[in-house]
Amino acid sequence: MKGKTLLFKDDLFLAHDPGFTHPECPDRLNAIYSALIGLESNVDLSFSVPVSADQSTLGLVHTPSYIQMVAATAGKPFESLDPDTKTSARSYDAACLAAGSVVEGVRLIASGQARNGFALVRPPGHHAEADRAKGFCLFNNVAVGAAYGLKKVGLKKILIIDWDLHHGNGTQHSFYEMDQVLYFSIHQYPFYPGTGAMHEIGRGEGLGYTVNVPFAGGQNDQAYLAVFNDILLPIARQYQPEMILVSAGYDIYYGDPLGSMAVSEAGFSAMTRLLVNLAEELCGGRLMLTLEGGYDLEGLKTGVIATINELVGKNTGGPSSELLESAFGQPGCPGLEALKMIRQVFKDHWTF
Ligand code: ZN
Repeated sequence: MKGKTLLFKDDLFLAHDPGFTHPECPDRLNAIYSALIGLESNVDLSFSVPVSADQSTLGLVHTPSYIQMVAATAGKPFESLDPDTKTSARSYDAACLAAGSVVEGVRLIASGQARNGFALVRPPGHHAEADRAKGFCLFNNVAVGAAYGLKKVGLKKILIIDWDLHHGNGTQHSFYEMDQVLYFSIHQYPFYPGTGAMHEIGRGEGLGYTVNVPFAGGQNDQAYLAVFNDILLPIARQYQPEMILVSAGYDIYYGDPLGSMAVSEAGFSAMTRLLVNLAEELCGGRLMLTLEGGYDLEGLKTGVIATINELVGKNTGGPSSELLESAFGQPGCPGLEALKMIRQVFKDHWTF
């Protein structure tokens, strides 16, 4: 394993303020950024300067009228784009820089200037649709990064893995009818935003290239790793992506106030290690993560640091076998039934 891990951070991301008591608050990044002190001494890590996505890059995913609508919030102290999605004077600038960070990561990793990266940004992105804000998200950072990879870098196949608590409706819709992006999401369901049912598997050329793993709450490290091992890995190996992007949400942490999943710091380590290994195996290690949710500050901070340690190869233990042993081997486990159903849904598309 060779090459640097890039981290994208910037104080502009702290200037997006959706209002007092909003869970998607600047303190989320303050918690992460303060924990990064000391990591800089790692020789394989570097902080990359984010570059704002310009309107033509945002336009790879978003409509011109929507981009203009968000741009019109600039300089205004408070605007509401959606019941959950508010802006402050610098939100538009922060959103352009967030999307641009993923774009820059894709560019640098694709050109071999870095091995992998993590955009530690806000606002998050995966709920944003082509023409509207949704669920704390203004521009769809990961979708813009993937679209840039396809249209500007010349990649032909990109795998997006979304482990956020919530389904990434905007990302799914951005690539629903094409096979150049495979969107894989594991999420709490039924839950916000309502999309992400098992039978949503793509359309037309994209049929079979959207994979949703909807789960009841309460799923732990073992459950997530079982889904990664039993569903994601075989599909990814057949798909053979040239780059892997990740919507990394830490709201699946057991203490998160918005959801009821039960993933621990060790689970985030193990999931990341599995994806680092998968990227090494399939696409020269090319792996770019972007921050989505995560609302328990301690869980967010420890989860992100665990992820970064795996990206730089500091923890090389890999997903421990103990983590994989228990949950899914037991009769009556609801998750086990869900995995069987998913294999059935995709039996004409993928071999398990
Ligand atoms: Zn979320």
